[in-house]
Amino acid sequence: MTADRTVTETIAATETATIVADIAVVGGGLAGSLAAAVLARAGHRVALIDKRAIYPDEFRVEKIGGHQLEILRRLGFIGGLESVGCPYDRVLNIREGKVVDVSVGRAYGLPYADLVAMARRQMPDPCSLIVDEVTAVRSSDDVQHLELASGRRVNARLVVLATGMAGALGYKLGIRRRVLAERHSVSFGFTIARRDGAPFDFEALTCYGERTADGIDYLSLFPVPGGMRANLFMFRDPTDPVMRDLRRETEATVLRLLPGLQPYLGDFRVTDRIQNWVMDLSVVEGHLQAGVVLIGDAFQTNCPAAGTGVARLLTDVERLCTEYAPRWLMTEGMGREKISEFYADRDKVASDQHSLKMARFRQALTSRDDIRWDVRRRLHFLRRSITHRVDQMRPGWLAHVRTALRA
Ligand SMILES: Cc1cc2nc3c(=O)[nH]c(=O)nc-3n(C[C@H](O)[C@H](O)[C@H](O)COP(=O)(O)OP(=O)(O)OC[C@H]3O[C@@H](n4cnc5c(N)ncnc54)[C@H](O)[C@@H]3O)c2cc1C
Repeated sequence: MTADRTVTETIAATETATIVADIAVVGGGLAGSLAAAVLARAGHRVALIDKRAIYPDEFRVEKIGGHQLEILRRLGFIGGLESVGCPYDRVLNIREGKVVDVSVGRAYGLPYADLVAMARRQMPDPCSLIVDEVTAVRSSDDVQHLELASGRRVNARLVVLATGMAGALGYKLGIRRRVLAERHSVSFGFTIARRDGAPFDFEALTCYGERTADGIDYLSLFPVPGGMRANLFMFRDPTDPVMRDLRRETEATVLRLLPGLQPYLGDFRVTDRIQNWVMDLSVVEGHLQAGVVLIGDAFQTNCPAAGTGVARLLTDVERLCTEYAPRWLMTEGMGREKISEFYADRDKVASDQHSLKMARFRQALTSRDDIRWDVRRRLHFLRRSITHRVDQMRPGWLAHVRTALRA
């Protein structure tokens, strides 16, 4: 069942005091924009509401690859991503100046704002984005009512909250964030170039931390349309003086913490502003409510070093927008029993749990210095290194053995 089109006004008519839609998506970051595009393409009337017409230059995910590409392909966004991202296929992984292994597989580097803009452009009518702030949500078993800062209202059968880490709206609905790990990780983002203007000798490179006391998980270097992007992920007290050094004397501090990088970078400089982010790990409580469903970071935050945020939000978008929401709209009502189906979805639960598990694993692998983790860390890199060497001597042999063992 869709909302009654005969008594509604078009979403594009932004002067309209009350906008009626089947689904209101609140928050047009990556999760909300992808969800709105998938639902609108399927013929649902969608109101996507974000307080900003253009996503600002904020540091979030900047590279997309692996399993994320498979889901984007299934959802029909791969062409859009290819048109804005910078492709790369080989990542040289190093530690203490030595090659650990080489990761092979297509990935794309790009600013987050470009990724979000690409997703918004995939809506059949990109002009239907409502630029406004949602200030209140009144939910029920039937129709949901949104109040916007401009005084306008939106009525919809289902509200998708994709408001990221901003918790104010959920708070008004009685939804709370439970912090699992406060200030869990620290991330830095910046762009680099060689001083002589020559290109770097690698396509992409990951350099792992050398000492547990530094708390460096890894520095990832990968191409973006504007140059070579650097993402540094750390597990360390955000008030430690090294954070200030990283902001003020980035080049020298990076080489002090990761001396093995010097031969790979040569004489380099930072070409733009340093972006810095401190992340809490948190998950919501009290979210099972009639008419409202939370996706992406609005439901659970992620550790940037684990690189699971996008896989999580893509799973949310795919399961909600291709399976549950279309089915829910076919019958009367939008009670808690419908909403609970999404939160119990096997794939969603698995990806949420995997994300938390990986967050804890990366932190322990980086900074735990007891004997158990010391041995585990050594074995982790040794196994990768041996596998790489075998693969170099006998290309394809290990893959063949693994396939044979699985059969
Ligand atoms: C530094 C950093 C690095 C990361 N690196 C990686 C990585 O390498 N790999 C990975 O997989 N993940 C990574 N992540 C995680 C990933 O970026 C996030 O999971 C993802 O961006 C979340 O998208 P979202 O749409 O849920 O939230 P957001 O992108 O934050 O979008 C929320 C939107 O809601 C809007 N909004 C909020 N409140 C309102 C309101 N009341 N009314 C209207 N609009 C509203 C905001 O304007 C915003 O546009 C990283 C995160 C960070 C912080």
